[in-house]
Amino acid sequence: MAMSFNKAPGPGETRDCTDPWNFVIVRSNGDVSLCCRSEVVGNVKRTPLPEVLESDQAKELRRGVWTGKLNYDCLRCSERGVATIEDLRARVRRGVSDRAAEEIASLRSERHVLRQIRSELLKERAGLHGHVGAIEGERDQLGRHAATLESELASLRAHGEALEAELARLREHAKVLEAERPQLRGHIANLEGENAALKGHADTLERENSGLKGHARAMDSDARGLREHAQALEAELRGVHGHAQALEAERPHLQGHIQNLEREVANLHARLEAKRNPIRRILGLAKPK
Ligand code: SF4
Repeated sequence: MAMSFNKAPGPGETRDCTDPWNFVIVRSNGDVSLCCRSEVVGNVKRTPLPEVLESDQAKELRRGVWTGKLNYDCLRCSERGVATIEDLRARVRRGVSDRAAEEIASLRSERHVLRQIRSELLKERAGLHGHVGAIEGERDQLGRHAATLESELASLRAHGEALEAELARLREHAKVLEAERPQLRGHIANLEGENAALKGHADTLERENSGLKGHARAMDSDARGLREHAQALEAELRGVHGHAQALEAERPHLQGHIQNLEREVANLHARLEAKRNPIRRILGLAKPK
């Protein structure tokens, strides 16, 4: 088949170009073209490249070359020659078939990899199931713990409110104490004075205590002497008792002796009176009877 360049395709002909199926250009601004001459078919900054390659503009460009109903750029293209529509379609099919074979091999390789990944994922899923069970158990436990914490939180809030109220009351009390402070300082000064006086009194008492201890020691010594004296007196008393008992034993005999003496005295008085009366009569001193 003869090739001609820059010639407009005739009936049953089209451009000898497979670029719309095999080629892509992405410019720095994101514009996408299917050859170096044709119009822009999309922009990767706005649309993913696979969607750009299947856009209406891209399909229209391929349809034009495929059917021979070329757009303006392809009709005047100086890069590609002319071919019959059948030849062009056969080349496109071969290219597509070759790419399909490559893609099938690639897909098989990917399928193998994916199967391995799937196996790993299944193992991981089994592990994750166990992990999920553990996490659910932990979640339940955490739920219970959260309920407990909620309860504690409510209790702490109530306690906090009570503390706030107490704090307010203490602040009021602090104000009262502040007001009382000058008076308390005066009282403290008085107490300090009393404390100094009490210390002096305590010193005096200490000295007195020391003197009393000495006196107590002297009294202990005296007590020992008195005890010894008491013991001597008791011994003497026992002797006196013994003597008294002896005297008691002698008492009847002495009483008899006293009675005898009294009788003798009475006799002597009588005899004396008997001798006195004649003398008194002689002296005229006799008492009238
Ligand atoms: S402009 Fe030329 S190179 Fe581009 S698609 Fe058309 S025929 Fe092919």
